[in-house]
Amino acid sequence: MTTEGLIGPAQLKDSYRRVQDRIEAAAAKAGRRAGDVQMIAVTKYASPDQIRTLVELGHAELGESKVQQLGQRVAMLDEFMGRKKTLAGAAPKSSVDDLPEKVRWHMVGHLQRNKVKQIIPLVGLIHSVDSLRLAEEIHNYAARMDTVVDILIQVNTTGEPTKSGVAGPAVIHLADQIDTMMHLKLRGLMTMGPNTDNPEDARPAFARTADIFSDIRKEKIGGSECNVLSMGMSSDLEVAVEEGANVLRIGRSLFGEPQL
Ligand SMILES: *Cc1c(COP(=O)(O)O)cnc(C)c1O
Repeated sequence: MTTEGLIGPAQLKDSYRRVQDRIEAAAAKAGRRAGDVQMIAVTKYASPDQIRTLVELGHAELGESKVQQLGQRVAMLDEFMGRKKTLAGAAPKSSVDDLPEKVRWHMVGHLQRNKVKQIIPLVGLIHSVDSLRLAEEIHNYAARMDTVVDILIQVNTTGEPTKSGVAGPAVIHLADQIDTMMHLKLRGLMTMGPNTDNPEDARPAFARTADIFSDIRKEKIGGSECNVLSMGMSSDLEVAVEEGANVLRIGRSLFGEPQL
């Protein structure tokens, strides 16, 4: 992969603004408040420079799809933010005013059970729980570490065999099972739209996921903190906002097109 298609750090401020504008416009159209829609910057194709620049703009929600890369990026940013804060301590007023106190990492990609142990200390939310066995594995490690891990169930509403996720009709049952696990907190659902050029193609998948989310909340599975609906990426964020997403996962519109 080369970085030719990537947006330079200097242009990132503009692409960040453009994504925020798109979210605001979509929220206005749907009669929702843009502030109720959170954006996760998915950094899988981003350069370290881009990630640091985005965090310096004040952005604190970051996502990765691979465990190893996530670990490297957590370490890179920890070091960067620690250094910035030391410098800020030495200078009375400085460019670090927008720097968040800390960032929160989201695991958005497929998670293998043998990587669970590595990921738990690093992330604030796992979006990709797609089986009871994976949920149990996370629960076991969380119990051992005496912690509670926030998770989303990934729903496969497109039926595409290449996409992971739990089939729609099985989601409520898995949600019920997860709800009994003391070291897991069910925060909601995640889905991915189909791989097509037309954002409208994602609407049925998003609407279906929103329906299941609404059923889970009606049945009070997970309680009041089960309030996250993670759907919508660069190509289909408008449709996702219209269908009720409150968390978007955005990569290319922020960082540019990777040349693979
Ligand atoms: C890469 C990725 C995204 C971001 O996709 P873009 O099309 O680059 O916005 C969102 N969610 C998941 C799970 C991803 O792997």
